[in-house]
Amino acid sequence: MTTTTEAAPETRSFEADVAKLLHLMVHSVYSDKDVFLRELISNAADACEKLRYEGLSDPALLGDDGQPRITVTLDAEARRLTIEDNGIGMSEAELADALGTIARSGTKAFMDKIAGAKDAQESHLIGQFGVGFYSAFMVADRVEVISRRAGTDTAASWASDGLGTYTIQPVDTADAPARGTRVLLHLKEDATSYTESYTVERTIKTQSGHVPVPIFLKDAPDAEPKQIADGAALWTKPKSEITAEDYKDFYRSAAGQFDEPALTLHYRAEGLHEYTVLAFVPETKPFDLFDPDRAGRMKLYVRRVFITDEAQILPRYLRFVRGLVDSNDLPLNVSREMIQESPVLAAIQKAVANRVLSELDKLSTSDADRYVKLWENFGAVLKEGLYEDYARRETLLGLARFKTTASGGEWRSLEDYVGGLKDNQTAIYYATGTDLDRLATSPQLEGFRARGIEVLLLADQVDSFWVASGMDYEGKPFKSVTQGLADLSLIPLADGEHPAPAASEAVNGFIAFVKETLGDAVADVRASDRLTESAVCLVAPEHGMDRQLEKLLAGAGRLDAAAKPVLEINPRHALIEKLSGLETGDADARADAAHLLFDEARIADGELPVDPRAFSARLMRALQRGIG
Ligand code: ADP
Repeated sequence: MTTTTEAAPETRSFEADVAKLLHLMVHSVYSDKDVFLRELISNAADACEKLRYEGLSDPALLGDDGQPRITVTLDAEARRLTIEDNGIGMSEAELADALGTIARSGTKAFMDKIAGAKDAQESHLIGQFGVGFYSAFMVADRVEVISRRAGTDTAASWASDGLGTYTIQPVDTADAPARGTRVLLHLKEDATSYTESYTVERTIKTQSGHVPVPIFLKDAPDAEPKQIADGAALWTKPKSEITAEDYKDFYRSAAGQFDEPALTLHYRAEGLHEYTVLAFVPETKPFDLFDPDRAGRMKLYVRRVFITDEAQILPRYLRFVRGLVDSNDLPLNVSREMIQESPVLAAIQKAVANRVLSELDKLSTSDADRYVKLWENFGAVLKEGLYEDYARRETLLGLARFKTTASGGEWRSLEDYVGGLKDNQTAIYYATGTDLDRLATSPQLEGFRARGIEVLLLADQVDSFWVASGMDYEGKPFKSVTQGLADLSLIPLADGEHPAPAASEAVNGFIAFVKETLGDAVADVRASDRLTESAVCLVAPEHGMDRQLEKLLAGAGRLDAAAKPVLEINPRHALIEKLSGLETGDADARADAAHLLFDEARIADGELPVDPRAFSARLMRALQRGIG
């Protein structure tokens, strides 16, 4: 029957995001265009793996062609490159859906990033993301896809020049692959090198040499296919036969990364359960590290059959680890959902997570510099585990590194911190904020510095959450420097001086006056132990929420009303002494001073004055008084 082929092709428009993406590809100035090959081969390999998986429950899908294969054919004369697979294939509806919209999160994330990027960065981002099928338009001015879904007897074609529309139509099965997908690229004039056998072979070997499907290359449409990649699963080979280069290539093609692995983990577990792990910690941050779904990317294989990358093999706080687990004892013939509930998988999840953490721990002692680089990239993610994974909290606290007031920019462990505790120091002190430099100079730290007490400087969002979860390290609780009373009086000053005597009566009188003047705006006003240089600072009440956490929650709209802060006044500060000496009759000046001190403390914390207009009027009056 040929009636279907005679139907006029139907022209459709791309989804707006696709059109934007295509525009970028068509006009791409990105010099490293090779990534398109990697993307198309990876799609072809995925299609073969999907078929292998579906074939488990429906062997008829495989027919008499059970060997997955990708064939790349070059045609210099026609300036054409074809990539064909005998994988799962796509129906007409699937073609329109997969190649007319943007579904996958990676491409979405790319689009979001590109929206804010400058031209010069765009091309760089293409390299970083790859962006899938549409990257074909970097090298082709017309792309045709002919596909036949496994187990069906219809085929369809999709074609586009990447300029806003595509056509779709049924085609005769005689013109389609027996099963799977053929992607034809009509190459641009400046992309003829992709019809040169040498270039294509070398590119495929480096980018895709380790995809789990054999790849064949045909120099010309009628040439004999030559195998250029064996499709052997690298992880099943003995370690002694694998070079660092092999690992790197595998990592790049499997993880979709363009950097080097910072840590490679390859081992076979042979106890109660048998499985192989090949996992990598990237050298740079993957772009989706802080995606809201925080999903990991470890793939699950069962006896070399790819099952799913949604098995959450590692906890979310290890989502930066890329790679796979290949199990020998999970059942092959059950659904993905069933596998996810299997106790065998649960045991594997637990063991693999423990192993990754113990490898990180080992690295932290064997190569501290490399470990610190890794921590700089992924520490903020690992710290999520401190409140998400109670059972491994100890281990994670041991792995954690911090910038502190004593570290001079170096990273310190809690072991280091505890080793430097001062006499009578019973807590691990920390300050949270958004900016390390600002934190290091915040007034709340003065009293600690004067006593040589080390303070952890925590500038990651996640810090406010784990420190608030009430944990301790070696029996020492974590305590915020901006919360409650800083009872530092038992700890001597670093220079051997004794703490200054208690505040004078005049100062106490002034403090009481400030409290009365500010009224409901504050929870309390009191003399401070923690200030040595600044006149005032704000802290949270003893049992209140840390001020930084409060700001975060308020910013996220998850807090109805912020708690009132405590205003602490430095009774030894010259300004405070002077203000305390003002005639009580000078009520206006004293009231202005009370408000100004409060507003100044807010500003030092990066906030606005309570009432900016009233603040500036008071400031003007105070300056005039000063001059007058
Ligand atoms: P991704 O592969 O990351 O999902 P792509 O833009 O590369 O993104 O591809 C979009 C979708 O098109 C794929 O998810 C898949 O469903 C489909 N697809 C692409 N190439 C093939 C192929 N060779 N065989 C079957 N399906 C394919």
